[in-house]
Amino acid sequence: MSEKYIEEMIQTRRALHKRPELGWTEFETMWHICSHLEQWGIPYVFGTKVINPAFVMGRNETEVKDAMERAKKHGVPEAFLEKTEGYTGAAAIIDTGRPGPVTAFRCDMDALPIRESDDCSHEPAKLGFASERAGIMHACGHDGHSAVGLTVAHWLWDHKDELCGQFKVLFQPAEEGVRGARPMSESGIVDDVDWLVGSHVGGNFHSGEVTVQDGGFLASTKFDITFTGLQSHAGNAPHKGHNALVAAACATMMIQGIPRHGDGDSRVAVGKLVAGEGRNIIAAHASMEMEVRGETQEVNDFMADNVEHIIEGVEKAYQVSAKVERVGESSTLVVCPKCIEKIEEAVQKVPGVKLMPRFHGAAGSEDCSWLIRKVASHGGQAAYFIFGCEHKGHHRPDFDIQDEKNLPVAFNVFVNFAKLVNGKN
Ligand SMILES: [Zn+2]
Repeated sequence: MSEKYIEEMIQTRRALHKRPELGWTEFETMWHICSHLEQWGIPYVFGTKVINPAFVMGRNETEVKDAMERAKKHGVPEAFLEKTEGYTGAAAIIDTGRPGPVTAFRCDMDALPIRESDDCSHEPAKLGFASERAGIMHACGHDGHSAVGLTVAHWLWDHKDELCGQFKVLFQPAEEGVRGARPMSESGIVDDVDWLVGSHVGGNFHSGEVTVQDGGFLASTKFDITFTGLQSHAGNAPHKGHNALVAAACATMMIQGIPRHGDGDSRVAVGKLVAGEGRNIIAAHASMEMEVRGETQEVNDFMADNVEHIIEGVEKAYQVSAKVERVGESSTLVVCPKCIEKIEEAVQKVPGVKLMPRFHGAAGSEDCSWLIRKVASHGGQAAYFIFGCEHKGHHRPDFDIQDEKNLPVAFNVFVNFAKLVNGKN
């Protein structure tokens, strides 16, 4: 394979790493991608062509507006920003002009609210491509995923005469908090897709190791809950207040105590709780960010339903009102054996890469599950692979992916998959 693609991919990854953006605000990232597609002459669609606003969760209009302003200041053309209609997400569409399957590759674009390490042992700091945006960082490798996707699109375009059918390279927003895939899966962009492949760097795997998942995605529901009570003087009129802080604290303890389900593993976490106005004021406000997960959709629904019951009970007990918002949702993995086998075949054609046994340990949640489910629902085949890197843990200030060594692995798996499934014969 030509060095040209590898070099380009590493440059892209480092450029994206410098400008990390949180979910639903990936305007600079999207422009980087779309302007390159434009420059190479590759057709693409974006915004509401790939995102159905009716299914969007966990998107803050004010943050989106601020992000568009920030992107404009950083050189993203106003005309492009307008055309996004405020929705991030894009897809490169490469038609070979010959009959054949429609194959989609999916990558995600968003970063995390983490301050990146400036330790000189951390490669981005050492080599001068660390985050320029304080408190925001690509700490899960999605910069690498997008770089792989863009370079794969470029390769497919350059080699389309050797291939048949059509390709769609999907650039999904807001994977963190499992928000972006559902609206993308409901946009119509994968309705005609026969094969879909997603991937992630890292996990439990080392450099040079690749595995295909055949289970293990937890279904998950993310909630934002706000409690509103009534303020009063804590000394002379505590009986006149309705204490939102105590209600939220009580809800936290009750939520942690939801019984385990007999049919599968579950998780529950109240990850953030903010409450109160001051020392001597009966608190009128509290807000909570929490999530549940389940090994099956049923187990997850059981957990989520119980959260809602608890909140209803607490509202009554403490005479407060609560607003429960579902801000993210992911599903379990639908397993498509034919696609898993094809990916494994593609992996085995990459020199120096070790194909690991299929992985199904409960690793976390990944909203690619929605795109996989959608493709499987109309008879298509879809699956998800993990390519390793050396790291001490995702979502940490020192997370890194050793791009030069590991991104070419993913690039080659996608390219080999394309040759296997869309080869001209
Ligand atoms: Zn991730």
